[in-house]
Amino acid sequence: EAAREILVDAADRGETRLGVEAMDLLSEYGIPTPEGSVVDTPEDAEEVAESIGGDVVMKIVSPDILHKSDIGGVRVGVPDEEVAATYDDLVQRARTYQPDAHILGVQVQEQLDLDEGVETIVGVNRDPQFGPLVLFGLGGIFVEVLEDTTVRVAPLSEREASEMIDDVQAAPLLRGARGRDPVDESAVVDTIGRLSQLATDFPAILELDVNPLVATDDGAAAVDVRLTID
Ligand code: ADP
Ligand code: MG
Repeated sequence: EAAREILVDAADRGETRLGVEAMDLLSEYGIPTPEGSVVDTPEDAEEVAESIGGDVVMKIVSPDILHKSDIGGVRVGVPDEEVAATYDDLVQRARTYQPDAHILGVQVQEQLDLDEGVETIVGVNRDPQFGPLVLFGLGGIFVEVLEDTTVRVAPLSEREASEMIDDVQAAPLLRGARGRDPVDESAVVDTIGRLSQLATDFPAILELDVNPLVATDDGAAAVDVRLTID
């Protein structure tokens, strides 16, 4: 099927790390992703931004740049009139920070409202003994500083996936703390289950990170993905 093809094509090209290409893999598994595409000219960037409508997010696309924001490679809230200049600026930055990086272009993506959403992460790591381990947590400091994450062995039952949400100490933030609307927990559980299935179906997937998976009151969307295959 299409998912297998994406992985086989990458392997044929000798690529072991996938970024934005892996977005299609998520779509194949029924995981929602924001609207958008990868372009390689400022003019095409304008065209995509126009079809998305409103402010957009723009990100450098390079197999050699894994942490895009570390080099200033992510811009949020880009209005129409700044899309072309932002394209040039992102490419310029990447060239400055990493002169040897192979730059494929820029991803122009629909901007999600993070005031309404909560950033979560879902990761998969293949353990030689247990197979794929699935990790869930809230994004940002909850992962990096507080280490508030939970892990299960794939494949997961729906019950196990939903228990993962109960496990994290920051769960109240998903459940309407601070006057927010509670997020659609079933959409988060569903996505955890689908990623667990993806990793189970393809032993070539060594590592998979969706960071962030943005959860809102009416769904969950994978905004950024990184994948390592062997
Ligand atoms: P990287 O992890 O490589 O730095 P991301 O694509 O995760 O790049 O973007 C970094 C951050 O920018 C995200 O964690 C999120 O806060 C914000 N962001 C990225 N894409 C979007 C989007 N489509 N809508 C809203 N915020 C976004
Ligand atoms: Mg990210």
